[in-house]
Amino acid sequence: MDYISTRGQDGPLGFEQALLSGLARDGGLYLPVEWPRFAKAEIAAMKGLTYAELAGRIMAPFCDGEISEAELTAMAADAYAGFDDPAIAPLVKLNDDIHILELFHGPTIAFKDYAMQFLARAFDRALAKQQKHAVILGATSGDTGSAALEAFQGRDAVDVFILFPDGRVSPVQQRQMTSVITDGAFAVSVKGDFDDCQALVKTLFNDHQFRDQVGLSAVNSINWARLMPQIVYYFSSALALGAPHQKVAFSVPTGNFGNVFAGYAAVQMGLPVERLIVASNQNDILPRFFEAGTMARETVVPSLSPSMDIQVSSNFERLLFELLGRDGAKTAAVMQDFAASGHFTLDADVMERAYALFSAYRLDDAGTVAEIATTAKNDGMVLDPHSAVGLSAARRAHADGTVPKDVPIISLACAHPAKFESAVETATGQKPVLPPHMADLMTRPEKMQTIDANADAVKSLVLARKRSV
Ligand SMILES: *Cc1c(COP(=O)(O)O)cnc(C)c1O
Repeated sequence: MDYISTRGQDGPLGFEQALLSGLARDGGLYLPVEWPRFAKAEIAAMKGLTYAELAGRIMAPFCDGEISEAELTAMAADAYAGFDDPAIAPLVKLNDDIHILELFHGPTIAFKDYAMQFLARAFDRALAKQQKHAVILGATSGDTGSAALEAFQGRDAVDVFILFPDGRVSPVQQRQMTSVITDGAFAVSVKGDFDDCQALVKTLFNDHQFRDQVGLSAVNSINWARLMPQIVYYFSSALALGAPHQKVAFSVPTGNFGNVFAGYAAVQMGLPVERLIVASNQNDILPRFFEAGTMARETVVPSLSPSMDIQVSSNFERLLFELLGRDGAKTAAVMQDFAASGHFTLDADVMERAYALFSAYRLDDAGTVAEIATTAKNDGMVLDPHSAVGLSAARRAHADGTVPKDVPIISLACAHPAKFESAVETATGQKPVLPPHMADLMTRPEKMQTIDANADAVKSLVLARKRSV
């Protein structure tokens, strides 16, 4: 499978190259040149596969000619061997209408593990083959960074630098990052917000001289290989409810538009999906966009669901490219306009295409606390704040008729409640307990750097601390 850039000036290139470079050289994001599509009978035949086998089946067409289905299955089996539930991504019934897809059974108890554990193995394989060393530079609002440091630790071919916004991540998230003290792992606290961290990463990726000098790679969800493994649980959960014969809908807590774009990919691959529900917290740039067709950047307001405290959803560019008929020049023009002015508006016919599949809902902090409290009380299930934002949207989508009652909604639970204990304790009066493998987390030794939100500061740090090849 070949990959092209959403801005039309890079590619086509193969899977491995897209994996290692992450962000395209024209500033765009890689996408497969076409969507592989499974026929209904092929989807029906997926029923009964193990999670790793399903992962191999779904990812094989994206790696065609480079990694075989059998090898992908083996990589997935290895990636998910340490997960604490044999189903890997278990689907739990909340009530007759809504099911909760638990995506917190990996080592850092948020859904990022599903992709990152696979990605680390894909990097190892590619770097060993090419006898190369890579520097991974990523920005995190909390969960990506812990998943990346955890997945890549101890891998000699890779140094990992993770930028996180100073004081804006939860204590558990921060300790998960800073307690990785192996060589080549760097948790970097940046004096700024998440969008500052993300902008620094983008700046350094666009510095081609630096990028080539250190072998810069991205593991943010701008990397296509991050999204690819996330498509798998859309299929596994839909299959569990009777797909392809039964339509389902998904409610996805959203920040960077990565996870929900993996759902979009599943739809392009043939999974029958009634609707994708985009669920945001009070940083509601996406709901405002889906209401009015105008994307308008505002400042980030810290919330109880910090992993969604984002105004610029970097993966939205992929949907934009799709909505614009895969026109790279148009996409580049819109994105340049957005960078310069902070807003853009799409034509009504383009928005029609978006409305055909997506609906969006927002929930503020008070609503989030209320949702956690009622769900604990009435349904006996304790959710983390991000998952509560998603569940509230799912309930409203059924109540207002956006999703017909006879279409079950799969609501994604993106983190374990103990990762965000203070919000959960506020709502339920009880402190959620960390899973056994993390019981001593908060007393583990820490390693961390602090820098200003400035590209030169990041550059100096990388050059000074990266291990030589
Ligand atoms: C990363 C994250 C999100 C947002 O996911 P995107 O792919 O960035 O939209 C939501 N909830 C949790 C718990 C996360 O870690």
